[in-house]
Amino acid sequence: MATNNADSLVEIRNVSKLFDLSQSAIDQLLGREAQPVRAVQNVDLTINRGDIMGIAGESGCGKTTLGKLLVKLYEPTEGRIMFDGRDMSELLREDQREFRERVQMIFQDPFESLNPRMTVFQSVVEPLKINDIGDGYQDRRERVVQVLNDVGLAPAEAYLNEFPKELSGGERQRVAIARALVVNPDFIVCDEPVSMLDVSIRAGVLNLMKELQDEYGLTYVFISHDLSLIRYMCDRTAIMYLGSIVEQGPTDDVVNNPKHPYTEALFDAVPEIEPGAQRRRANVTGEVPNPRNPPSGCRFHPRCAKIIPPEDWSGSQDAFRRGCNFKRRVQTDDIPVEEIAEEYAEQRRAVDAVLETGLSLELPDEHQIAGDGRGTVDIDSLDLPRQAENALRSATRDLLEGNEEDAMEQLDRMFNSICERQSPELRQSGDQVTACHLYGSSVANRETIAPDASD
Ligand code: ADP
Ligand code: MG
Repeated sequence: MATNNADSLVEIRNVSKLFDLSQSAIDQLLGREAQPVRAVQNVDLTINRGDIMGIAGESGCGKTTLGKLLVKLYEPTEGRIMFDGRDMSELLREDQREFRERVQMIFQDPFESLNPRMTVFQSVVEPLKINDIGDGYQDRRERVVQVLNDVGLAPAEAYLNEFPKELSGGERQRVAIARALVVNPDFIVCDEPVSMLDVSIRAGVLNLMKELQDEYGLTYVFISHDLSLIRYMCDRTAIMYLGSIVEQGPTDDVVNNPKHPYTEALFDAVPEIEPGAQRRRANVTGEVPNPRNPPSGCRFHPRCAKIIPPEDWSGSQDAFRRGCNFKRRVQTDDIPVEEIAEEYAEQRRAVDAVLETGLSLELPDEHQIAGDGRGTVDIDSLDLPRQAENALRSATRDLLEGNEEDAMEQLDRMFNSICERQSPELRQSGDQVTACHLYGSSVANRETIAPDASD
């Protein structure tokens, strides 16, 4: 089967991976359908020969699951993956064997990937035996010695009879790399390969991986939550959020000119390399939602600093975002309305208190601004249009009277966004591809809404 791109080695087409497809006890009790974990959702990605493709994103966003799909440790629930022009799920027996040689994975924890009861020699020779490579013991031993030298475990003879527990973390990871390399693969998925290693030896292992890439003609997928490593290692980078790729492109573009608000927020959290460089505004709020029940529309919208107001919104971007946060908190019962009602006998005061709490942003600690710190905000400091403030006050009175339905209806009418309604498609913008309504057709040519100065 031909691929549409001669340079591509791996093509991931609309791949999803769901876990826990059966109904849980809770699902049965509530009489609802199973709520699987959507670990990877509708991922499209092309990996070119000779590239290092970075996969970045917060813990739990699906990086490892995607990596395991690429080496066929998992089968996709939907979609397909093409390796060198062939559909991985349709490999014949003979092709499967070839595939197992050509595709390897290096895991985060070398202690887990190495059998503690096997010597270095036994660990590294094992893939040769399994794949029936090499001409007898002597040939295999030579191959093992060669690859150990290549990964910097020299002289190899000194390592052959060691057990994993006798090695340092860095040496163990080098053995794991040797084990992957010994079958002479084309493609290696490296899942956080240095995150368990001492910081002082990381650079050595990373540089080794780069050298091996040239020497062995490898294509890598390099998975990391550490953006400075991604910057250092990868030609291209894909940013994942809650199972989906939100942006991808040449690493330089993704890093220096991020288009997706999530990418921006991620790089915000990384200390700038150059001292004195201005840090971008902190703009991500709240926690990563549950992948069993991801938000509608753009999955990032509940945390996004740039959530798009309707055409007729006359206030600031910040005020709109706070209003949306308020709505979401009402939906999730996150505002302690009853407590506040008990504290303030006078309804007007109670309304103020609910709004002061509900309209504050849940910024991560390091980005909390003094005065906003205890999770309340001065309503007058927000540039809320009168109509919006009226809707908020009226909805809050409904809440205080226990009428959540009417409250939600008013909030929905005032604070509605395309980001909540529609899932954005990946679209070309600049040199990267971004899934964000700011770059979608309906708001094309519209300048990114100017950041508001109120915080
Ligand atoms: P990452 O590597 O980015 O931290 P993972 O791919 O490990 O993310 O996990 C993505 C999501 O899928 C998480 O919510 C995780 O709890 C869930 N998950 C991963 N593996 C399994 C599994 N075998 N069974 C059920 N859920 C899983
Ligand atoms: Mg992981």
